[in-house]
Amino acid sequence: FVNSVEEFFSYCKENEVKFVDFRFTDIKGTWHHVTYTMTAISPDTFKSGIPFDGSSVDAWQPINRSDMVLIPEAETAFLDPFTADSTVIVICDVYDIYKGQMYEKCPRSIAKKAVSHLSESGVGDTAFFGPENEFFVFDDVKIKDDINCASYCVDSEEGGWNDATDYPDGYNTGHRPRTKGGYFPCQPIDSMVDLRAEMVQVLEQVGLEVFVVHHEVAQAQGEIGVKFGTLVEAADNVQKYKYVVRMVAHLNGKTATFMPKPLYGDNGSGMHVHQSIWKDGKNLFYKEGEYANLSDMARYYIGGILAHARSVAAFTNASTNSYKRLIPGFEAPSILTYSSQNRSASCRIPYGSGEKSTRIEMRFPDSTGNPYLAFSAMLMAGLDGIKNKTEPAGPMDEDLFELSLDEIRERGINQMPHTLRGSLEAVIRDNEYLKPVMSKHFIDTYQHYKFETQVWPYEARPTPFEF
Ligand code: GLN
Ligand code: MG
Ligand code: MG
Ligand code: MG
Repeated sequence: FVNSVEEFFSYCKENEVKFVDFRFTDIKGTWHHVTYTMTAISPDTFKSGIPFDGSSVDAWQPINRSDMVLIPEAETAFLDPFTADSTVIVICDVYDIYKGQMYEKCPRSIAKKAVSHLSESGVGDTAFFGPENEFFVFDDVKIKDDINCASYCVDSEEGGWNDATDYPDGYNTGHRPRTKGGYFPCQPIDSMVDLRAEMVQVLEQVGLEVFVVHHEVAQAQGEIGVKFGTLVEAADNVQKYKYVVRMVAHLNGKTATFMPKPLYGDNGSGMHVHQSIWKDGKNLFYKEGEYANLSDMARYYIGGILAHARSVAAFTNASTNSYKRLIPGFEAPSILTYSSQNRSASCRIPYGSGEKSTRIEMRFPDSTGNPYLAFSAMLMAGLDGIKNKTEPAGPMDEDLFELSLDEIRERGINQMPHTLRGSLEAVIRDNEYLKPVMSKHFIDTYQHYKFETQVWPYEARPTPFEF
């Protein structure tokens, strides 16, 4: 909508903007905001920035060095679709006034470094990222009982089978999908059609290009397909997408969640990430005639991500809940191989890849990963693979969910970590590939923060299952 600071002011004038809402992303991926009146903002604001208290954001600054500055990026401006008064949102980076440079713990600044690293490495000039963030929509009340039937759930006589979360005998499910019964029955079984359409309408208003909308496999699960973008652009879009999906659900008396595995026994929610590297308008991942039309570079890129996946997972699967999704049987991968089309492999090469559309799809990430950090970690691991010509395990076209643990070991295939502790410990051993964009201090802070806010509180709690 806006291409310069100058345009920003004419855009605000046209839209009679009353408030300017500055947003930035913290370590765990949450958007924060502070709002100024339009009259308080001048072109100089974009240079001098917006002061804020960096000690009040988790794991950022100590109290005696709390003054930080937001640097707004005018080109990211868009109208907030949810405010009563005309409000423009501007996405910001964080500047460290003590060191006189971009803040080492600002995820968006780290993402920008990763983009520069790509061109400095000489490998390519552009990396494209296409995330697919799945979500659940639940009633805006506590989940009623252990059957987990949300009101946006449906039932299908066709889909679904008996397992742990299926309905007890005699329970009238009405038009609700059963376990794994959400892909793709029509209405009335799919009862989220209008809600998703409202989400799409708002997503388009804030500048996202939507191409597909559907119910996902699990009960009450949905997905809206958004066009890919460059690394920072795609990560900004994830922030906008989560904001819109949550807000539209909220305004309809529902709760949308990107939690990876809310329902035991049903599919979880992933954030598959499609990726390709380009140079001078050419897709470097494409080579006709090779397996799935993949170039050597693409294969090494996959090799790098799979080789570092246990450590990458700390950024792409950043919650204790993430690892409940990465088990066989639910279209989420646990085995570190690649394959064309195979949805049980960690890396799938989507069907029908021509020159323009050839790309890889990493299937293990989920939406608890901060998108700026998750994309950066994958790009850095992939570039490391290109540098070292790392061959990935595979391709493996069989159903990997059928492999026994012995077979997996015999073939020397690595697996994803089974816990967040496992991936955080992998970061301690394996972080050299991140060093060009993440400082040692940031990596230490990240780990410590995740142990404190996720791993320790989780591990210390008895669960209903243990009773
Ligand atoms: N929900 C699955 C996951 O957890 C993916 C299903 C799909 O998109 N085919 O990754
Ligand atoms: Mg999809
Ligand atoms: Mg999907
Ligand atoms: Mg996918």
